[in-house]
Amino acid sequence: MSQASNWTSFTALGAALDLTASAPRRSRLLVVDDQPINIQALYQTFSADHQVLMATSGEQALALCTSQQPDLVLLDVVMPGMDGFEVCRRLKADDATRDIPVIFVTAQNDDAAETRGLDAGAVDFIFKPINPKIVRARVRTHLTLKAQADLLREWVYTDGLTGVHNRRYFDERLTVEWLRAVRNGSALSVVLLDVDFFKRYNDCYGHLAGDECLRRVASALKACVRRPSDLVARYGGEEFVCLLPDTDLLGAMTVAEELSQLLFVQQIPHADSSVAKVVTVSLGVCSKRAGINVESAHSAESLMREADAQLYLAKARGRHQACGAQMHEA
Ligand code: GH3
Ligand code: MG
Ligand code: MG
Repeated sequence: MSQASNWTSFTALGAALDLTASAPRRSRLLVVDDQPINIQALYQTFSADHQVLMATSGEQALALCTSQQPDLVLLDVVMPGMDGFEVCRRLKADDATRDIPVIFVTAQNDDAAETRGLDAGAVDFIFKPINPKIVRARVRTHLTLKAQADLLREWVYTDGLTGVHNRRYFDERLTVEWLRAVRNGSALSVVLLDVDFFKRYNDCYGHLAGDECLRRVASALKACVRRPSDLVARYGGEEFVCLLPDTDLLGAMTVAEELSQLLFVQQIPHADSSVAKVVTVSLGVCSKRAGINVESAHSAESLMREADAQLYLAKARGRHQACGAQMHEA
């Protein structure tokens, strides 16, 4: 990463971690209470500054959290059917909803209930009847903390130079998708991509132009990889990787050829390349076939190792091409 982008990141990080900063406006709150009158009181407190979603049961609350991803939940404890403690426990047990902060709003003014709520994963406990000023202040604090945590989570998984996901994110997703593919017997492919003669590009045009070239490669990748489950990441220096769930070797080779072509037609000058007078890439593809068990010794690492071997082959065969292989089967 260049010094300039490092500096930009640190300044933005500093600003984001300024604890005196106010909570983002128009955050999305979910109010859960079986009594419409209680919902109304909280709606009036927050509707001017935030989007307020409402649920009158635990089941409805869980469904809304999954589909709408609110920034904070204000949760009643005593409700018919699923009570607030159970709702909170389930939210915290699910990867998709565990980062949503929960504040209990309850008439149960006793230490045991408060302890139970905090143990279930809530960040705060507020007693009814509510004092709007106090509820607003506490919600503001937790929305600010949530916004900061979201930003940090995003940065931890983003490549600072190109804005695509980074290696850390790729490795985590690869493990998840590998296990899913093995469990479901589905196909899974990786496309590893390396810019040809990139050292010479830097030497010829300078490091900043090299950085810009990497940004353009990343944009081309993003434009090419269209399914919501597909993933593009920067794998290292001038190497990128695409993870393609439910995609066989034929599909992955098609994506690889498209990637190569999309970049080629941009005609980014590369006077010192021995392949063409423009920037080109070499690609290595490896796929796990659908419906077939892989050898037990195989793992996500062997998928990457084979893709790397195919990339090496593409380089050896003259660059500006894609080579692919099926993963060995049991
Ligand atoms: P090949 O065709 O065999 O891939 O040759 P190459 O020159 O692309 O490969 P090599 O591994 O020798 O060089 C990679 C170069 O990529 C060297 C390194 O300085 C450059 N590089 C790595 N990360 C960055 C970056 O973030 N910005 C810039 N500008 N250059 C980078
Ligand atoms: Mg390389
Ligand atoms: Mg290279």
